[in-house]
Amino acid sequence: MFGQTEDNIWDCLIVGGGLAGGLLLQALRTEQPALKVLLLERGTSLGGNHTWSFHGSDVPPQAKWLTPLVSKSWPAYEVRFPKYKRKIESVYCSIRAEDFHQRLLRHHADQIRLGTSVQEVRRDSVTLQDGRVFKARQVIDARGWPKKEALRGYQKFVGLDVKLAKPHGLDHVILKDALVPQTDGYRFFYTLPWSPTELLVEDTYYSNSPDLNVDQLQQEIMKYIATKGWEVESVIRREIGCLPLDLYGSAVSMTGNGPLQLGAASGVYQPVTGYTFPQTVACVQALAESSLDNWGAVLSQMQQRYNQQARYLRVLNRMMFLAAEPEKRYVILERFYQFSEPLIERFYQGRLHRGDQLRILCGKPPVSVWRALKSLF
Ligand SMILES: Cc1cc2nc3c(=O)[nH]c(=O)nc-3n(C[C@H](O)[C@H](O)[C@H](O)COP(=O)(O)OP(=O)(O)OC[C@H]3O[C@@H](n4cnc5c(N)ncnc54)[C@H](O)[C@@H]3O)c2cc1C
Repeated sequence: MFGQTEDNIWDCLIVGGGLAGGLLLQALRTEQPALKVLLLERGTSLGGNHTWSFHGSDVPPQAKWLTPLVSKSWPAYEVRFPKYKRKIESVYCSIRAEDFHQRLLRHHADQIRLGTSVQEVRRDSVTLQDGRVFKARQVIDARGWPKKEALRGYQKFVGLDVKLAKPHGLDHVILKDALVPQTDGYRFFYTLPWSPTELLVEDTYYSNSPDLNVDQLQQEIMKYIATKGWEVESVIRREIGCLPLDLYGSAVSMTGNGPLQLGAASGVYQPVTGYTFPQTVACVQALAESSLDNWGAVLSQMQQRYNQQARYLRVLNRMMFLAAEPEKRYVILERFYQFSEPLIERFYQGRLHRGDQLRILCGKPPVSVWRALKSLF
């Protein structure tokens, strides 16, 4: 299919067709359609098996290119804790990987190569598994999480997309329902109403261990659904996640002459939620607005801003995983959701102001004071 010709020289090669690679392709095709872009994905589909969710406020207002990829959005979400409940009128959105795959392929089929594994990624070229070399003015490494050993907590979950026998009556997202036994750390159920009779229900844990008993969690989800009076007609899909949450870490930076990195590959994410979406969409928007030659500087600037926030957010992780007793972790979140909506939005975006940071930490901590102080360092 590809010969060793001028045709193999691109403006931008994107390696990895997950969330980051797919978003960049969509943004570039919309904002800089003259660029010659190619995305290389080793799998047979884009996006893997994910439901990616985010707050409307995570998306820069200029990022209109994102709208066609959104599977569903809701006008509000709710959190439920033993001593505090709140419904927040703020847009919440999800992208299902199957929609992501179909929509990107429908509009940009000529720019996507599936089943194409890349062996080596350099600043201005890539070598495929079969030995062919492609050159580009910019290569973006979006191959997902790097492997690293570190002291971590985990956000782990099993989710089921289910079809119900009758309408569930929910018109908004239940972001956290922590009115459930607090086993294995801070635990909550998460419910997305896809349609009047379809739901995604996830059983989630902020745990010290990455181990997941998938069958048991699946049963827990079915029990939870039954307690709501809903009757499952069929299970449509299952998704499993275990997102690493760093407790300590060093600043991320681009390596000398290595390729530019985006998404999980860059190590830039929201350390408390384990999500990459807010940071990735901000980076993609910044790249889509810049000329190719400036991309290194653009990403470097985003990383510096990220490093300042990440230091603070890792302190919050240490509070949660080192200072709080596992079954009492929910108390930290119960207090957090009582803050103002703008503060909550800035937290999810990873753009907390200094005042926000002080406000979150001040007052009597809902954990042992001595352990809280120790976890700061
Ligand atoms: C079930 C689940 C749900 C999640 N939900 C959310 C969420 O709601 N919001 C959120 O922000 N985060 C969520 N996450 C975290 C998620 O990992 C990341 O946010 C997101 O998928 C990272 O995107 P990425 O493109 O950087 O990496 P990935 O999505 O992992 O994509 C990397 C891609 O690179 C490809 N690849 C790897 N190596 C090669 C190679 N050598 N050659 C070619 N291709 C290669 C892979 O096949 C893959 O498609 C979830 C994770 C899971 C597992």
